[in-house]
Amino acid sequence: MTLRVGVIGGGQLARMMIAPAVELGIELRVLAEDEGMSAQLAATAIGDYRDLETVRAFARDVDVVTFDHEHVPQQVLRALAADGVAVHPGPDALQFAQDKLVMRARLAELGIPQPEWAAVRDVDELQRFLDEHGGRAVVKTPRGGYDGKGVRVVRAGVEAADWFAGLDDGDALLVEELVSFVRELAQQVARRPSGQMVAYPVVETVQRDGVCAEVIAPAPAAPERLSQMAEGIGRMIADGLGVTGMLAVELFETDDERILVNELAMRPHNSGHWSQDGAVTGQFEQHLRAVADLPLGDPSPRAPWSVMVNILGGPAAGTLEERFAVAMSEHPTAKIHTYGKAPRPGRKVGHVNVAGDDLDDVVYVARAAAVHFD
Ligand code: ADP
Repeated sequence: MTLRVGVIGGGQLARMMIAPAVELGIELRVLAEDEGMSAQLAATAIGDYRDLETVRAFARDVDVVTFDHEHVPQQVLRALAADGVAVHPGPDALQFAQDKLVMRARLAELGIPQPEWAAVRDVDELQRFLDEHGGRAVVKTPRGGYDGKGVRVVRAGVEAADWFAGLDDGDALLVEELVSFVRELAQQVARRPSGQMVAYPVVETVQRDGVCAEVIAPAPAAPERLSQMAEGIGRMIADGLGVTGMLAVELFETDDERILVNELAMRPHNSGHWSQDGAVTGQFEQHLRAVADLPLGDPSPRAPWSVMVNILGGPAAGTLEERFAVAMSEHPTAKIHTYGKAPRPGRKVGHVNVAGDDLDDVVYVARAAAVHFD
């Protein structure tokens, strides 16, 4: 019988699971938020993922439920699990990707290296942390942040007064030391319910204005020790938190050669898009294999270097289709992925993957293809 995987959320991550699902003979069903979403092609239902009955009805017709994002409330996830639905990643794991304070506390228990941090309830507590950490720190809303929204560098407690005012009783903000990092890295691991794991090479991620702009795989000039440390951290977190599916661990590499965990994503991740064209098994196929508890694929790179450049909706002339055609004709080695989204400034509407032997060439072609969209 055909295995049916249900994805909650109709964004580009769900969209990019469609082709590998077809290849694997998996029937993919998507609960989309709206008409016309990225994953429209596989959308079998439209509805609110926060509504238990909507999600229950969707889950009834699938063998496994997984996600395009982390925003499905815990009550909904736990009710599904109690109904006997296979949910991957499960609520116990997903809570650590949903709430940065919960994640910090758990990683501390596991002894994973991370920035110094504290839960702060008011301006005075934040000010005390600042006084003890050189007068600058990063304040984060524990839930719902993405692409740098919900992250603020502050020099005084009062600079987060508006966020404290918006907190519910008993809630707190996360404050972290301002890490002096030389670059950002990401480590991906896939884990099956049975516990089998595979690790991708650690990659370098470049952010612009809080949004991922480029990824280089593997991270250039990464000594063996650093790659092993990143892989070890990824595996320890996947195992320790009981993650099923793809896990992405965002990391800081510090100027004193440490790596510290920034945050976690339990789904395919922007830092792994390179693997669609640059690895034996791309992350979207791997996620499906992992959540369906099928044997995992080889995560090895197929070329010495892969580069991914995001395409953000910008003011360039012409329609997206016209620009895609120009980029394709001028750079036939570039693999151009489109998300079927209307371009708005700063909105991720696609990405370009290029793989090859020479890093400079690969970076050049990927940027040159993506520049048609600026
Ligand atoms: P989001 O959930 O919005 O992706 P992140 O926690 O990943 O937010 O933070 C966004 C960016 O802010 C990071 O990629 C990094 O560049 C910067 N940042 C986050 N935390 C710290 C920190 N403790 N020290 C220095 N920079 C940070």
